[in-house]
Amino acid sequence: MPIIKSKQPDLDVVSCNILDWLFPVEKPVSEQPLWIDANDPSNSLSPKQALHWVKRLAVGLQRHGVRSGDACLIFTPNHIFVPVAYLGSVCLGAAFSGASPAFTVTELVHQITTVSPKVVFVHPSLRETALEACSKANISRSNIFLVSDVENASTDGLHDWRALMASPHESKDWRWPSFTPTQAQKTIGTINFSSGTTGLPKGVAVTHHNLINNVSQIASIYNYSSSERWLGFLPLYHAYGQAYAVLNATKNTIPIYIMKHFVLEDYLRNIQQYKITRLQIVPPIMIMLDKRAEVARYDLSSVQEILCGAAPLSKELQHAIERKFKVRVTQGWGLSETTCAATGVPWDKEPLTGSVGLLLPSTEVRLVDDEGREVGVGEKGEVYVRGPQIAVGYWGNEKATAETFEDGWLRTGDVAVINEEGYIWIVDRKKELIKVNALQVSPAELEAALIENPDIDDAAVVGIELPLGERPRAYVKLAEGARISGKDVQEWLKPKVAKHKWLVGGVKIVDEIPKLASGKIQRKVMREWAKRDALEM
Ligand code: AMP
Repeated sequence: MPIIKSKQPDLDVVSCNILDWLFPVEKPVSEQPLWIDANDPSNSLSPKQALHWVKRLAVGLQRHGVRSGDACLIFTPNHIFVPVAYLGSVCLGAAFSGASPAFTVTELVHQITTVSPKVVFVHPSLRETALEACSKANISRSNIFLVSDVENASTDGLHDWRALMASPHESKDWRWPSFTPTQAQKTIGTINFSSGTTGLPKGVAVTHHNLINNVSQIASIYNYSSSERWLGFLPLYHAYGQAYAVLNATKNTIPIYIMKHFVLEDYLRNIQQYKITRLQIVPPIMIMLDKRAEVARYDLSSVQEILCGAAPLSKELQHAIERKFKVRVTQGWGLSETTCAATGVPWDKEPLTGSVGLLLPSTEVRLVDDEGREVGVGEKGEVYVRGPQIAVGYWGNEKATAETFEDGWLRTGDVAVINEEGYIWIVDRKKELIKVNALQVSPAELEAALIENPDIDDAAVVGIELPLGERPRAYVKLAEGARISGKDVQEWLKPKVAKHKWLVGGVKIVDEIPKLASGKIQRKVMREWAKRDALEM
């Protein structure tokens, strides 16, 4: 089967420092509010204001010893200054890595030790978790700074990031370094976390070249109008949130109302109040829009299009939302490893229900079946994808990089079918990954946590389909003489991991975990067990 190429016209691939692309010297920088606090719209940043902060931060980071090739980590809920932290690090060639604000100390330690950041930015509300994690990961307090959308008093020996920044006078005429195309293809812009096809979460190394080209690919198919207004609730530590709320919004000058947390009533009120034109959402929110009674109390007629991604969306739900709101509903598919997106439905094409759309420009795929044969139209196969948005690998992890990336091709672990016109349906997932509320859960991470329990001899974790969506379920072999119940195991795990990783799918005590001779868990069997158990629940 030949390689399947995008039917869209190829993209003019651009390779430079992403800040040069977002803020070209010849283009006046907008003074209109762009990042707006949805709770208090008087709290906003225009690109011009943001750039002023970005320069102060970048010069301050340089003075602090941050160089191209380093990384800066941020641990915060969404707020309007997160894009400043992002752009201020990235413009220097230092990678930006966001950690989920729901993380426990152990989870944060894993991200910090993987990334080895020079500087850690912490929201004051998360100070305690951050301090404990930084101390375990040997990050000195002099490299930790408080960051939020107001100035914070120094506390516990930590300073507000304004103490790190250069003065407006010092940074006024500063401009970030320009990159040659080769530098842009090598310099890492972001390190978001993904467990890939197997194992623990890993840092995905996405370059400036990847970021620029993926945002161009995305923008090329959507035909944004001059009256666009977006709502930014997607987490800014995730590829989807960053692509839209930081890069796409800046490049296309689209105001975006930033929500600190997702609360359905606030979300609906914000759509009504700010007359939001286009929603970027995830399947669990589609379910809420379909089912929750509060939805009827708000006028959502400003919305013209809904884009859903990051997890499977059923045909029925897509159809129900189209009918209920009389809007166009499209899907996009992508991974942290594809920067953000690899498919979508162009503005002038029909969104076929259940399909994740067409390949973005300059993107190609191969489909490979269980026997390793390349298959064609109408046949199921694991997707391998190639294009200018494919990350260069996993940060500091050559082994995982070699297993997942080859000659520019990314092995996705997703199984798809493609039709004659190039529409793609994601029909299965071959990799270990579980998605809960569109967030990643790595079975290997939960298994490693579970076997820390002295009463547990062995464990396997798998996703189970419940009416509320996919949830992690554990099969556990108890240690000799142990008397704990499945419920005890669920409770024991709770304080150790972020809430979306809790074993909401239940815990079953078993005599043996099915393993291959190599000692690897037989994931296929685990999936069958979970399917069987789902029928009984
Ligand atoms: P992440 O790296 O967190 O964005 O997760 C990527 C994974 O989410 C993909 O490999 C898919 O398994 C899943 N995913 C993303 N978008 C879709 C979609 N539209 N339909 C089905 N699965 C999706």
